[in-house]
Amino acid sequence: MNPAAPPAPLRAPLEIEFDYTRSLGPVLSQFMTGLADRRILGARGTDGRVHAPPFEYDPVTGEPPGELVPVGPEGTVVSWSWMPEPLAGQPLEHPFAWALIRLDGADTALLHAVDAGPSGPAAMRTGMRVRARWAADRTGSIRDIECFEPPDAATTDAVVTGAASTGTSREQAGEPVTGTITPVRLSYMHTASPGESSYLRGLAEGKLLGQRCGVCGQVYVPPRGTCPADGVPTREEVQLPETGTVTTFCVVNVGYPGQRALGITPPYVAAAVLLDGADIAFQHLVLGCEPGEVRMGMRLRAVWGDAGNISHFTPTGEPDAAYETYARHL
Ligand SMILES: [Zn+2]
Repeated sequence: MNPAAPPAPLRAPLEIEFDYTRSLGPVLSQFMTGLADRRILGARGTDGRVHAPPFEYDPVTGEPPGELVPVGPEGTVVSWSWMPEPLAGQPLEHPFAWALIRLDGADTALLHAVDAGPSGPAAMRTGMRVRARWAADRTGSIRDIECFEPPDAATTDAVVTGAASTGTSREQAGEPVTGTITPVRLSYMHTASPGESSYLRGLAEGKLLGQRCGVCGQVYVPPRGTCPADGVPTREEVQLPETGTVTTFCVVNVGYPGQRALGITPPYVAAAVLLDGADIAFQHLVLGCEPGEVRMGMRLRAVWGDAGNISHFTPTGEPDAAYETYARHL
């Protein structure tokens, strides 16, 4: 008789999204501000070469550049790669080329999109001449150049542009751009390991499942599938209680976008929680008391949320655990 097949690992689509905000500094501020005025600027290095986009520090001497010099708006494709199925948020919605373009007057190349026109990739070649197509709405961003295109293209300086997904700090025309916001998004399919799958299935039933190493006896939760100390598979499943101890913690005082959706606002405590019987702590929220009351050794119990998961931990009110009981997990 065949043994029952193990349940298939769990899979789920995950999406990570955040805005990357950076200040531009004096050089890139000039570069971005120039783009809003349809000017592309480069920096001349001490070796005489013109870099476009400009460097912030000379690659030879480490010094900031002097006055920036205009380059382009035409240039030559140095290298390219075809993008047959553009992703959301990319410069063009139809197939296009990513290209390294050496602008006239520059010695280095700039990465940008090339709209090759109706011939598609057949029109692309190394050495082809292109020129910037300016966006109608320019805010002081690399997206002020909508793309590059062959000089004889009929679509120069399109009036209609896609929604700008890159923000800047420019409040009104004429002011220098001092910052840039780049939205970052990553979509992927996560396949849980067999150990993680059983842990997640346990959570859905209100159980905390870990695994014990057959060599050293350490209990890992969530399970890793192998013991990092012995390098052997951890096959013995262990159900752990919902109670544990704060080993270390921090008070979070800085908020972040989307935090309110979780129902928490700073200040709040994120703690390393060592479940009773476990040999490794995991991080979770501690709610239900003032942040200032949380301390090392504080006893906690899990509070379950609606979605088959632990919402947070909260104090049990028991006396604190003795330091010796968790000291080796710090
Ligand atoms: Zn082990």
